[in-house]
Amino acid sequence: MLLSTDIKYVAGVGPAKSKLFADELGITTIGDLLGYYPYKYIDRTKFYTISELSDQMPYVQLKVKVLGMEMRGVARKERLVAIVADATGTMELVWFKGVKYVKNQVQIGQSYVVFGKPTMFGQKMNIAHPEMEVLNAQTLEKLTGWQAFYNTSEKMKSHYLDSRAISRIVAKVLQDEMLNFDETLPPEVMERYHFMSRCQALHTIHQPATPQELKLAQTRLKYEELFFIQLDILKKSKRQRQRFRGQPFTKSGELFNRFYTECLPFPLTGAQKRVIRAIFDDCRSGRQMNRLLQGDVGSGKTIVALSCALIAIGNGFQAAIMAPTEILATQHYQSISQMVESLGINVKLLTGSTAKKQRTIIDQELQDGSLQLLIGTHALLEDKVQFSNLGFVVIDEQHRFGVAQRAKLWTKNTIPPHVLVMTATPIPRTLAMTIYGDLDVSIIDELPPGRKPIATYHYFDNKRQELYGFLRREIEKGRQVYIVYPLIHESEKMDYRNLMDGYDSITKIFPEYQVSIVHGELKAAVKEEEMRKFAEGETKIMVATTVIEVGVNVPNASVMVIENADRFGLSQLHQLRGRVGRGAEQSYCILMTKYEIGNETRQRMNIMVDSNDGFVIAEADLKLRGPGDIDGTMQSGLPFDLRIANLATDGEILTHARHDVEQLLETDEDLQTPEHELCRIRLEQLNRKKQNWGTIS
Ligand code: ADP
Ligand code: MG
Repeated sequence: MLLSTDIKYVAGVGPAKSKLFADELGITTIGDLLGYYPYKYIDRTKFYTISELSDQMPYVQLKVKVLGMEMRGVARKERLVAIVADATGTMELVWFKGVKYVKNQVQIGQSYVVFGKPTMFGQKMNIAHPEMEVLNAQTLEKLTGWQAFYNTSEKMKSHYLDSRAISRIVAKVLQDEMLNFDETLPPEVMERYHFMSRCQALHTIHQPATPQELKLAQTRLKYEELFFIQLDILKKSKRQRQRFRGQPFTKSGELFNRFYTECLPFPLTGAQKRVIRAIFDDCRSGRQMNRLLQGDVGSGKTIVALSCALIAIGNGFQAAIMAPTEILATQHYQSISQMVESLGINVKLLTGSTAKKQRTIIDQELQDGSLQLLIGTHALLEDKVQFSNLGFVVIDEQHRFGVAQRAKLWTKNTIPPHVLVMTATPIPRTLAMTIYGDLDVSIIDELPPGRKPIATYHYFDNKRQELYGFLRREIEKGRQVYIVYPLIHESEKMDYRNLMDGYDSITKIFPEYQVSIVHGELKAAVKEEEMRKFAEGETKIMVATTVIEVGVNVPNASVMVIENADRFGLSQLHQLRGRVGRGAEQSYCILMTKYEIGNETRQRMNIMVDSNDGFVIAEADLKLRGPGDIDGTMQSGLPFDLRIANLATDGEILTHARHDVEQLLETDEDLQTPEHELCRIRLEQLNRKKQNWGTIS
């Protein structure tokens, strides 16, 4: 029997169940089934007593005697209740479905092993729909080890394909002595870590005897998963480097030198200089650059991007800077054209709302090469935007763009331009290594001098009056204030009302000041006008949705109030907070939530209050949410799904796997030697299963 055997040939599966496996879980072969790991394990040798139970416990096992049974409730709400006891107390078992069957099976006076999730109902502990087996020597003998639990769907359960049934099918498969498990990891790796074999690991993950053994199996399988992801990414990036020549920038150029000595409004930080040098080194290497620049909000990425664009222009190329929103693109355009004014270069802005006439000029100048720096939004990606010689592209706030969009920019020149992607969402190291394995990463780890950390507070709604008093005092000192509301797709209408209500009450509370409002529904021109008024200090308060989240720069704003802060992710909160603290004044961020919030929300608010460090926050976010929740484009950056490894907690395993893959590729780049053949075959198998974006960074 092979791992590639169709699952319908396993005894007890058959066509109906195999269709369920395929439709609900995507499992078609025996290999798929064995790769469907349990999500938890319960120790079936452990028994609790009734007095020990609490409704915090997951699953528990008890030995109890049935004292009586009765029907309770009326008509459709009817349920069967069994009163059971052990030496320490009594509790109830409850059934809402299959009542007739249970009534016939369960005997009053008989003792049972009962297994299920305890909950508190009124004053009494109960277990709904427990598993029950008559208490005797035979039953106890069966309960020797750990029971694996598999996720199933409602549909599967209603067709008798629940977790227990999957356990039984897996057990049957594993019993087959003919089952052939090829080792997939290279022998040197197996030796280095004394890993258990793939065969033993798969047995153990489904039927562990001890927690220690289970841990060993998990470690091996996690390593394997991360190893193949790294192998895939690094192999492809090697190929990519060989394949793509880059435009060579031979000199830093007079333009950049003049900018550096004459136009810089401030001295660059050490980190900024280091990054510019690294980018320049890449761009003159003769290979195409693909670099990710991470830097916390306010760390000064724009000037780095501009400096490098000027190097490109100085070498006779065109450069482009793309931002995710119109507001941000416009702001880049304004500040950049101001900074380079004396250099006499041709800079233009292209967005969705650029007028036809201006557009024609831009198209013309792009093609004849006279337009040197184009700044804009997604509009840059359109096919009709044709450069004559694009050499350098910057993508700001890259997490807002998908992989496909990045790829599109490659096609804008026959020799692809150098690509610099920038993000202020500090992607945790482990994730960056996994997703951007093929990008070089630079980090700006130093803020410009003189910044004061932003003081962050978490207020409940009942402190609203104090909040308004505080805002008034800040505005009287000459500062400005942001008030941000969530706007999330599913409940857009309600959110919109919240925002408008908020705006109304703010205008009533602060009649003496002008208030701006910006949200997604407004026309670009209106938005821009409101932003301009706020930026120039005409309006003192800006009420907005997250459209102001990225990039916006108003140094005089010193307070960021975030309403319904519990509805934002940590990284998003950090981004929003980064809108203040850009000037010399002490700045504040106030997180507003209602009083009744869960434990996790409280934890998240505390992290924000305690830390100003984007990396710390991103790590915490990853731990709290788990990598499964990371937004779609990031997940799709992974070549294969993660089933057992966890990027938040398995960083150490990932680091080892990465190192080992690098070593492997150094000695046997194409996995041609006999001892690496199975490893190569496994990689091909995985790739066949999942279509992926791999060849493009
Ligand atoms: P981000 O990395 O968030 O995009 P910006 O590039 O918008 O940050 O820079 C934030 C602010 O810091 C801007 O007002 C910018 O002019 C200023 N800035 C950038 N670099 C320096 C520096 N080396 N010294 C002082 N101010 C700087
Ligand atoms: Mg920025």
